[in-house]
Amino acid sequence: MSYDLVLRSTRVVTPRGERPATVCVTDGRIMAVTDHDATPDGPVTDLGDLALLPGLVDTHVHVNEPGRTEWEGFASATRAAIAGGVTTIVDMPLNSLPPTVSVPALDVKRRAADGAVHTDVGFWGGAVPGNAGDLAALHRAGVLGFKCFLVDSGVPEFPPLDPPALDTALRAVDALFIVHAENPDDISAAPPSRRYADFVASRPPNAETTAIARVLDAARRAAARVHILHLSSADALPLIAAARDAGVSVTVETCPHYLCLSAEEVPDGATEYKCCPPIRDRANQDRLWAGLVAGVIDCVVSDHSPSTPALKRPPSGDFAAAWGGISSLQIGLPAIWSSARRRGYRLIDVVRWMAQRPAEIAGLGTKGRIAPGSDADLVAFAPDEPFVVDPTALRHRHPVTPYAGRTLHGVVRDVWLRGQPVSPDGPPRGRLISGSSR
Ligand SMILES: [Zn+2]
Repeated sequence: MSYDLVLRSTRVVTPRGERPATVCVTDGRIMAVTDHDATPDGPVTDLGDLALLPGLVDTHVHVNEPGRTEWEGFASATRAAIAGGVTTIVDMPLNSLPPTVSVPALDVKRRAADGAVHTDVGFWGGAVPGNAGDLAALHRAGVLGFKCFLVDSGVPEFPPLDPPALDTALRAVDALFIVHAENPDDISAAPPSRRYADFVASRPPNAETTAIARVLDAARRAAARVHILHLSSADALPLIAAARDAGVSVTVETCPHYLCLSAEEVPDGATEYKCCPPIRDRANQDRLWAGLVAGVIDCVVSDHSPSTPALKRPPSGDFAAAWGGISSLQIGLPAIWSSARRRGYRLIDVVRWMAQRPAEIAGLGTKGRIAPGSDADLVAFAPDEPFVVDPTALRHRHPVTPYAGRTLHGVVRDVWLRGQPVSPDGPPRGRLISGSSR
């Protein structure tokens, strides 16, 4: 047969390993992964020694449109994603207005995204007090699962669930529940301060451990599927591993900032490092890496959560006053790859953490792998090329990021979305993913 697109590389990263191969694409799908020196019928692009990766799947992105589009938006977020080798994002249900907690709210969001997106985009729904009766319909309407908080979310229109409400939500629909697990009783109000240590102290590791224990317990009782969002404290790893061994259906993510940045390096007043739960110390970071490598942590996703620069970097440098959220959609791949290679890990590991596992957890069966039958979402990547993070080169709406000025390795050269070449400056070729039709 004749293929639409044929890509050849000495470093094709497949689920079975990295090897010289030729990837053959028709109608947006990978049809075959053949020998490097095969001569399939179709236009061949030889990528030489550039690595060919599956497009990354970032299941934790706050797009904030509509309602807080001045923070970020579908066009700018997905341009940044493409520039960073991410070809699928899943949008979080909060910080937009309205939050995605009902079918009409999902419709509003889909209308905002439709025609504007450069990646494929899926949606999480939200579970908030009082909407348990809406969850089944929202799931049928296409959300991939439901996010809830056990602690103040940072925005008043998305309140947390108390323990009885969590139980009710978990029983309301057979879907994945993704949980921001911090226990409010273990958190104190951060004092006004330019010192990062004062902020970290207000959100100690046991706030995560206690909340995660509660989530695991609730999941066990309801026989529900749960996913722990943005794990920061490695103290919770044994608890999670034990629950999984005991049959609880739990998956876990962490984020580039917890694996690449540490509390010791945060300058006074550098509120671009603020997020919740917080970035902790280097010893904790080493234990998170161990949890990731051991598979207790399944995946690495950005938790890209920008705001306006005025909210993110108040002139006072006060950590208590600053918005909690880090922008890294465009930088996650080189950030993680730079740390991973230094620690002796390989591209196949990064692809498992940032493409394959997130796709599997979100139920995106055709995403996240270079294999016959998968969508031809592909990234040509120069893994050994260094660059300095230049905020003016970021395509996020606001270039405020703690990675500014850092030297990283790994440059995204070319991206294909369902077999079509795409770039941040090209036309938006993304599609909206509906969980009910995937
Ligand atoms: Zn988030």
